[in-house]
Amino acid sequence: VESFHSIAEESNMIVAVRVRPLNAAECTRANVHNVVQVHRHNELTVQAGSSADASAGVSHYFSYDQVYYSCDPDRRNYADQLAVFAGTAQPLIDTAFEGYNACLFAYGQTGSGKSYSMMGIEGLDDAALDGRAPHVEAGIIPRFCHELFRRIDAVKQQLQVEVEVSYFEIYNEKIHDLLSVQAMTNVPETPVQRQALKVREHPIFGPYVVDLSAHSVDSYSALRNWLAVGNSQRATASTAMNDKSSRSHSIFNIVLNLTDLSSDTESSDTDSGTVSLRQTRRSKISLVDLAGSERINVSGSNGERIREGVSINKSLLTLGKVIAALADSRKPVGSSTPHTFVPYRESVLTWLLRVSTKQISKHFYLFLLSDLVNLTRLIFVIQNNRKMFNSIYVSMSLQENLGGNSKTVMLATISPASLHADETLATLRYACKAR
Ligand code: ADP
Repeated sequence: VESFHSIAEESNMIVAVRVRPLNAAECTRANVHNVVQVHRHNELTVQAGSSADASAGVSHYFSYDQVYYSCDPDRRNYADQLAVFAGTAQPLIDTAFEGYNACLFAYGQTGSGKSYSMMGIEGLDDAALDGRAPHVEAGIIPRFCHELFRRIDAVKQQLQVEVEVSYFEIYNEKIHDLLSVQAMTNVPETPVQRQALKVREHPIFGPYVVDLSAHSVDSYSALRNWLAVGNSQRATASTAMNDKSSRSHSIFNIVLNLTDLSSDTESSDTDSGTVSLRQTRRSKISLVDLAGSERINVSGSNGERIREGVSINKSLLTLGKVIAALADSRKPVGSSTPHTFVPYRESVLTWLLRVSTKQISKHFYLFLLSDLVNLTRLIFVIQNNRKMFNSIYVSMSLQENLGGNSKTVMLATISPASLHADETLATLRYACKAR
């Protein structure tokens, strides 16, 4: 975990792979065996071939930033929920406190452990509500939220932190709010009745979902409640349409507004007098459970299925293109074209995951107005500094980059079972594009 932290500091894209254990059914099937071997903390090989005998297959070697292995018989590389959280998501809390955006997404075939990694076993982490550590099987999202409020509590003398959450899913390139008022009243709905929301581009804050509900939370338990509402909403919609959860992407967003309490910055302007400024940073963390990666290859006989296949294909394929383009643009000068085109807007998912507020946190001071006098002064300052504001605006509109000081973690989940070897290889190759 330690060496991983140092990588996380240097690079904006971290790629980790998690291998789940063989499940009971796989263990009892005679012709199913483990085809994944993990070497050291970041390398693995997959035996793939038509024969049931592993030694007859071809060995494929892969290396990533980190490989988590849940099926190590002697537990040397054994990675539980805490280890995965500590290595992938926990460093993003620092990123967020620094005012930068972060994104973690789980990618893999259905049944490979995306939901287990992101959410864990439902309802088990209530122990954390009264201050104890999260349950051993709690996943990244509840652990992240729990740790976030622990950190907020620890810095509350110096830093005022406002937390806002939103939760939505993308299904067939359509966005559905999982925390809407309808979700609160918990009326079981079919996905057809739910209103689809649109994406728009804000000139400063970048892409956003129009009319998406956002909810202020001041404690872990309040946040947990919203998470539970969203999860039950997702489950309801999923039951209404068979197998839907494997076809939709779910995105849990946490927005932090951080206000420095210890140092009120006094800015003296010769013309306007003195204006009291407080430095406010804003960061957004997106925790994403993607649709099953097997959907990239799906094709069906009836119209609906084809349409689903096509659109999910689009988001996952575009995500692949975006991370490949970003990886390409990070290569040393000379080895790639100077202006790699990153096709963010080709799918709803990548459009929304595009990070656009990095400059705001870096160069922008938000003026906190305590009274009307300050408002008048602020208008005066803005008028006098129009040139400066214009240049900030321009640099923000040019921002088309998941990179910069934002962090992205891709957690690729795979099954070790021989019967999934082809999907496993596809997932591992997709994950390689990001490196
Ligand atoms: P996905 O979300 O990718 O479709 P799930 O997270 O639902 O897959 O995992 C499928 C099954 O495997 C679940 O029963 C889950 O509890 C189990 N599972 C997945 N990953 C692990 C793991 N690392 N350790 C133990 N059980 C796991």
